[in-house]
Formats: sequence, C-alpha cells, structure tokens
Amino acid sequence: MRKYVIVGVQGSGKGTQATLLAEDFDLTVISVGDIFRWQVQHHTKLGAQVRRIMAAGELVGDDLVERVVRERLDQHDWNYGFVVDGFPRNRRQAEFFLESYDIDGVIYLDLPDDEVRRRVLARRLCSHCGMDYNLILDRPEQEGRCDVCGGPLVTREDDTEEALAARLRDYHAKTDPVLDLFRRKEYVVTVDARPSKAEVQRAIREQLGLV
Ligand code: AMP
Repeated sequence: MRKYVIVGVQGSGKGTQATLLAEDFDLTVISVGDIFRWQVQHHTKLGAQVRRIMAAGELVGDDLVERVVRERLDQHDWNYGFVVDGFPRNRRQAEFFLESYDIDGVIYLDLPDDEVRRRVLARRLCSHCGMDYNLILDRPEQEGRCDVCGGPLVTREDDTEEALAARLRDYHAKTDPVLDLFRRKEYVVTVDARPSKAEVQRAIREQLGLV
C-alpha cells in the first residue's frame, strides 16, 4: 500500500504527475479540485455551494473540503494506495489529514511563480469530457478541439490573471506552512517541476525509491 500526497502551485503539473504515477503503481488519484468541478458541471447542491468560490480563485471552507476528502477516502476503492492532489492546502487541513491517515510521502513540485503564470494562462479544458490541455506543453492536434472526443476546448473559469494572482498569494500564505509541517515529519521529496513531464516523473520515482 502506497499513500502519497502531491503538493505544488497550480500549473506545476500535479494532476499529470499524479496520474502518471498512479497508472504504473495501480494507485487511485484523488483530486479535490476535480471532485468540485464535477459537482459544478453536474449542477449539484455541493456544486452550487462552491462555484463562486472556485471562480474567484479562493479556497473552499475547511469543513466542506474535509467532508469531501473523508467521504472519498471512505469509498476504499484504493486497494494499492492513493495519490491525493490538491489537499491539504493549509495547516488545518494538514493536521486533519495527518491525524486521520498514514502517509508514505509528500511530493512537492517546485515551480517559480513566473513559470506558473506562463503555464496556467495557457491551460485549456474539454467542455465535454474534462480532458486537460496546455497550449505550451500539451497542444491538441486540432486547434480548439479535444483529441479524445472532439469537444470544444475552454478556459477554466478560474484561470484568469486576477484569479491566478489571488491563488498565488493564497498559496504562499497557506500552503508553504503545510510543507513546513510535513518537512518536520521528513515526508517531503522536492522535485524541480520545470523539466519535461517524463523527466519530472523519473525524478519523483527516484526520490521515492520506486523503480
Ligand atoms: P485545483 O484543481 O486543485 O486548482 O482546485 C480548484 C479549486 O477547488 C480551488 O481554487 C479551490 O477553490 C477548490 N479547492 C480544491 N482543493 C481545495 C482544498 N484542499 N481546500 C480548499 N479549496 C480547494
């Protein structure tokens, strides 16, 4: 059983790296942002509660996030382990997580803010199937269309300059202390997120001692 957390600013490639790791080691990726986006797209009650907060680039309240994470992990569909993406984002969430679950490692994807800005503003999402693209790193074959389902590509509602600036401020203020907390427990492996996807993935596995 392998239980990891992946931490990094938006655009650092958390989702991509979590998925690459999960595929080879049969892990389940648990992305809190994806869970919320699904709820918004399907117009659920929870979706209505978080839509505006997400669009403004703010963080959803801790009680709600912790409930969602607990319910998701309680499904126990992760026989070989999991990679949690997008959680914990502040000290309280980290403490809740450390009290409730044992973890084997925290993967910290390190990316300077300038590079974050360049990457995030190039992000696109298929409005039908949810597949992610990036006009710099991962272009679709046909402009504006999803390679998988042909659906139109859109910008995430929270990928604007203003929302990004708010997220970066929030990230440094709230998530840096989370890393300090995990570092004290010696869980953290720091990986430079600037190289190619494959190189970053190789560095993650090397540092976690996975072959
Ligand atoms: P992400 O896809 O991780 O960038 O998450 C998208 C949005 O979902 C964030 O901007 C927050 O509004 C919300 N969200 C995701 N994870 C959390 C979390 N751990 N705590 C609070 N809000 C979150």
